[in-house]
Amino acid sequence: MMLESPSPFDRIQSNWQRTVEKVADACMRSNREMGSVTIVGVTKYVDAVLTKHLYDAGCCDLGESRPQNIWSKAPALPDAQWHLIGHLQRNKVKRTLPLVELIHSVDSLRLLEQIAIDAESLSKRTRLLIEVNVTQDASKTGASPDEAMAILDRGLALPHLEIVGVMAMASLQGTSDQARAEFASVRVLRDQLAERNQHPLPVLSMGMSGDFVEAIAEGATLIRLGSCLFEGLLT
Ligand SMILES: *Cc1c(COP(=O)(O)O)cnc(C)c1O
Repeated sequence: MMLESPSPFDRIQSNWQRTVEKVADACMRSNREMGSVTIVGVTKYVDAVLTKHLYDAGCCDLGESRPQNIWSKAPALPDAQWHLIGHLQRNKVKRTLPLVELIHSVDSLRLLEQIAIDAESLSKRTRLLIEVNVTQDASKTGASPDEAMAILDRGLALPHLEIVGVMAMASLQGTSDQARAEFASVRVLRDQLAERNQHPLPVLSMGMSGDFVEAIAEGATLIRLGSCLFEGLLT
């Protein structure tokens, strides 16, 4: 007799539950409340059906790296909180703003100014993170610390915009220790930006499937998890 293989929904549900347990465990080991870390389920690898399965399994914050995928998926899941985690072109800002809870990837003054213009015309209060690159790795996206300072200075003067924190990625090929050191320097940069401007920046978006434990240890409040939630379903 053949055993029936689990349905895609069952698979996603068990991935989700296992991941929530790992996050809870990482929080406990870092002396943090589970409620201080939110999992953003990154659905860029999957279609609308598997995206909905993840939402139905309990993941209410969903992230996409391409704005077009938010345009196509968000109308079917209007109660999900959508996060844009990848590059945003200025000509896509206006269509994206009404659909998203948070934009993680503000990495230039030019993009910031465009978001301000479109937020104004839509009268939409818009929450943003500054994407920072603390590794001096030219191939990586993100603002340098100096650029981040300039973006924050300007952002504080613009109506409708609310800069609430920073986002970063660790070097992809790095060791666990290296990831942890990089996340620590993101936190330090966040603290310096907040202190200098006397403006709280409570949100730290850092950590992916391979390094969220290190990110939680260094204070991440949003972790962006994709592949570990779709294990067994990606080819
Ligand atoms: C794809 C992606 C993730 C998720 O990565 P996984 O390793 O699949 O968890 C997180 N953040 C960003 C910016 C991404 O593009």
